[in-house]
Amino acid sequence: MSFDEKAARPIAELVAAGESVDALYAELLRAFETERGGVRSDDALKTFRDRWLGRKNGLLSATNDQWLKLAPRELKPQVGKLQNETRKRVEGDLASLQETLAAAGRKRKAIDVTLPGPRRDLGARHPVRLVLEECIEIFGSLGYSVAEGPEIEKFFYNFEALNFPPDHPAVDEMDTLFVTDDTLLRTHTSPNQIRIMEAIEPPLRYVVHGKVYRNDAPDATHSPMFHQLEVFAVSESTTLGDLKGTLEYFAERFFGKGTKTRLRPSFFPFTEPSAEMDVTCPFCAGRGCRICKQTGWIEVLGCGMIDPNVLRSAGLDPDRYQGFAAGFGLDRFAMLKYDINDISLLYNGDVRFLRQFR
Ligand SMILES: [Zn+2]
Repeated sequence: MSFDEKAARPIAELVAAGESVDALYAELLRAFETERGGVRSDDALKTFRDRWLGRKNGLLSATNDQWLKLAPRELKPQVGKLQNETRKRVEGDLASLQETLAAAGRKRKAIDVTLPGPRRDLGARHPVRLVLEECIEIFGSLGYSVAEGPEIEKFFYNFEALNFPPDHPAVDEMDTLFVTDDTLLRTHTSPNQIRIMEAIEPPLRYVVHGKVYRNDAPDATHSPMFHQLEVFAVSESTTLGDLKGTLEYFAERFFGKGTKTRLRPSFFPFTEPSAEMDVTCPFCAGRGCRICKQTGWIEVLGCGMIDPNVLRSAGLDPDRYQGFAAGFGLDRFAMLKYDINDISLLYNGDVRFLRQFR
């Protein structure tokens, strides 16, 4: 007879069949202890508790009804004492078991390495940065070094050494942010041509990039601060053909295979001859669209052969050395590459916009 069956019978019947009261309660406790060892979860604990302490069908309710209540007078004190002790023992053990399981649960939570970690937003690279890195990568593959230079520049390096006549409109305070009479926020990255030519013997091949400043009111296409990148090369044999070949290579890699270029004559104080370069519109492959205003071409940069006066300002003999230079706005390139229609999007720090770029 299992102890479950015994618990459902009047104690007098069991005693008549040869059981002792002590042995019956001892068997009950042993069963409780054996079952307790198998309880490892909150669900199992609940089932276990119902089985032993359930008000209606619990084992201790059964022994209370069949053993204690129905006990003959002479057995009552002994059964009452054992029933009481057993209940206390079961209740106490269940309480400490619940405590142990809860503590184990907290510990598991603390070290469960399989749980996903807290989600942290990864930063995104700024579109201007992405374009800069791509340009450096392309020119780097052609052997160009990278330089930056000061943002607060001397008037001499920003204008005079670059062959700007004193009455050039850019020299005016209307366009340039002066710090003192002699220093200003550089309006372009070209002063570094002079600085590098002064410091290093040709042959030279450099990418110069950084922030430049103009006294412009901000609108969809203008910002008082923007990013410029220029490349220049100086040697005893650099030609206009080298300039054209370099820019064609760059345009195909940056704007995509099949991109065509064309040079249109232009004027800059620091180059002679000067040109502006157009590329076939990368959005419509030259067929004409909104972005290229139906022309099929987009103007992307200014370039030319370094003016002999500029070489002379940097202490180089223009009869021995020649070079080319080309420059463009990284912001404009980012706007072209990612079809961004307002330059202020690049600078107002809206995370929803910025996180699109990786
Ligand atoms: Zn187009």
